[in-house]
Order: sequence, then C-alpha cells, then structure tokens
Amino acid sequence: MKFDWTKKGRAMHKQAMALVTILLSSLLLTNPAQAGSISRIEVRGSQITVSFDDLVEGVSTFSLIGPDRIAVDVRGGKAGRGGYAKGIVKSVRQGQYNPNIARIVFDLDRPAVITSGRFSKDGKSLQLSLKAVGQSQLATGRQSFLPPLKFRAEPPKKSYSVKVPLGKPQDSVRLPKIYGPNDSKRPLVVIDAGHGGHDPGAVSPHGGKYEKDVVLAIATAVRDRLIAGGQVRVALTRDTDKFLVLEERYGIARRLGADLFISIHADAAGNQAASGATVYTLSEVASDREAAKLAARENRANIINGVNLGGSNNDVSSILIDLTQRETLNVSADFAKLLIREGQRKITFRTNPHRFASLVVLKAPDTPSVLFESGYLSNKDDVAFLSSKEGKTRIATGIASAIESHFARKLALR
Ligand code: ZN
Repeated sequence: MKFDWTKKGRAMHKQAMALVTILLSSLLLTNPAQAGSISRIEVRGSQITVSFDDLVEGVSTFSLIGPDRIAVDVRGGKAGRGGYAKGIVKSVRQGQYNPNIARIVFDLDRPAVITSGRFSKDGKSLQLSLKAVGQSQLATGRQSFLPPLKFRAEPPKKSYSVKVPLGKPQDSVRLPKIYGPNDSKRPLVVIDAGHGGHDPGAVSPHGGKYEKDVVLAIATAVRDRLIAGGQVRVALTRDTDKFLVLEERYGIARRLGADLFISIHADAAGNQAASGATVYTLSEVASDREAAKLAARENRANIINGVNLGGSNNDVSSILIDLTQRETLNVSADFAKLLIREGQRKITFRTNPHRFASLVVLKAPDTPSVLFESGYLSNKDDVAFLSSKEGKTRIATGIASAIESHFARKLALR
C-alpha cells in the first residue's frame, strides 16, 4: 500500500527526509489528484476539527465581517452534510463551491480569527484554533494549511530548480562576527538584511533591483555607522548573498544574546505611488489588511516550492505569542516609536508608520525586535533614494541614532 510504511521503509523514509531534496520528495508524491469527502466537523470551545474520509490537497481559510463568518475552502474535497457546533460558532454549513473545492462556513456569534491550523499525521483531519477578537482587529487575509508532505497531492512546481535540505533550522549556522568595542557589557544589536540567495524578495519594476541586494547595502551602512559611533556592538545575520530561514535570523540574535534585533526590508506594492518607510512590531493580529498581507509576503520567505523550511507548522503566518513575550513586545514598541521620532529627520515615513503584523522573523520571545520596511521598490523615487549613497547614509544615520538613544535611555534608567 502506498502509505503503509514498513518499519524499514519508515526508517528509510526518515533518513531520506533528513537529506532529501525537493527534487527527491516530488518523486515520492505518486498520488493522483485526491478527493476526500468531509466526513465530520466538530467545534469544541476554540477548537475545530474537520475530518476527511480520504486525502485532500489543502485547505485555506478566511474571515468575513458583518455577519461574522469564517470560511474554510477544502481543495480536492467533497462537501458532506452539517456539522456539530457549540460556543462561539453558532452554526456550520457546507457545500460544493466548485467541482474541486468544498466550502465550509462557520457562522459566528462574535468576530473571531483562525490563529493556527495543523493536519494530522495521516493527513485525514485538520485541527483549527479559533480566537475571538475585537471588530477592529479582524484580519481578512487568507491562510493556507497543507497536509504533511508525503500525502500532498500536487507535486511542487519546478521541482528541478532547487535542492535544499529539509527540516528545522540548524543551530550549526555559524555565528557572525561582532563589530565594535571589545567589551561584552556594551549593548549588542543584530541587523538582519532580509531575504538573500535564491530568495530575491521584492523586485523593482524600475531597473529590476532586488530587495535582497538593496537591504544588504542598507544593513551594511547601518553597521558601519554604528561602528563609527563606537557606542554599541553590532553583528549582521548575513553580509553576503546567502539564504537564511526566518528562525535562523532571530536565532542568531538569541544565540549572541543580542539586546536588539532589526530586520531590514523594502516593500513593493501594486500602487506605484505608495512610498515611505514603515516600522513593524510583532502582533498575533495585524493592525490592518495591508499589514496582514505584508506579513504573508514576508513570511513566505521560508517556503520553497510549497515546503516550509522554517519548522513543522505549515502555517507560518499564524503566530501565538507567549505571555513572557509581553515585556519584549513593550520594549520593541518603544523602540519603534523612537526610531520613527529620531529617524524622521533623515527618513520619510508613511502615515501611521508604526504597524503590527504576525511576522515570523520578529518572534524571538526575549529579544526586542522590529522590522523596518525602508520604502517601496515599486516607487521610482524610493528606489532612487534607497539605492543612492546619500539615501543609504541618511537611513543608516536615522537608524543608528535611534539605536544609540535607545540604549542611552536604558542606561540612564538604570
Ligand atoms: Zn522583505
């Protein structure tokens, strides 16, 4: 049988998974298009369980407002009947949305979002977690959940193009060089240039510049400005064109015992008029639709050909924040405000420049972290500014002086 692994087969499979390349994994996917019927839907408290009688291709969910509902689309699924509801879910309906998609609708008695989702090991049931939120906190973006790789129906696209090891980020990623005063009591800042290697990030329609290159140049400029200032120690997660998964980026900051982590990015938008910088801090619930979309885009860096390289959870866009993170989040938010206040002299920010989003790269529970979107590669003036020597110097000065003020303030409070 296809999925009846023998002991030997399982061991071999495990070994293969550790080293396997996407190329190889696509060969394991021998299933034709799957069509599992929804056999059972059960809601208990904040947990929803959807069971299937056979494998499905994947699931995506989204929230709808007024009346408040959550829709769950099952790709490669056949609708069954009804469902059992209790608590926040008033009723459950399901129907065939199109020949390939079954849609389940949960009618809610108050606004709620899906915070996480996970398929069972055999790929035949999906567990979703619900959380009640305020009307204003509703993010309406889609979230996707895929069954475990070996049960996935669709082979990854372009499977010949990349070979990457699967599995969790390794602690063996070499720690970067620390620059600045040779004094471990001095605060340490880790600057992270987003993307890199096979992941170019956003691509500018004006001259084809890659985000990964633009932000590396900015990160390097910030480092050099901090070294020149002589106040703090500084390290870069990458100083070459290399790829790191998101967990490795904040993992470096944690392993170095950093006092502050800044991830530098540049966005792109369909609206070419959009311009200016934004500072993001971590939140389970996005501050607005745009922030939710940005998080979905940036978190996608971990996913290559449908495989999440960052961890076992297929849904990188959902983040559960630990209570112990609250203090870290406060410090992060304070720094975001300071960065905007200090940086304003040198950098043009957007309106409401401090926003919140569920960004995986900001997830370190004990390192205050912000993500700085330096501007829009889709905007002609922003690209020119971000790529110019003057622009880089201005951004580096803005960020570095905010960092120095942040630690001077902490020192004064001691
Ligand atoms: Zn980015």
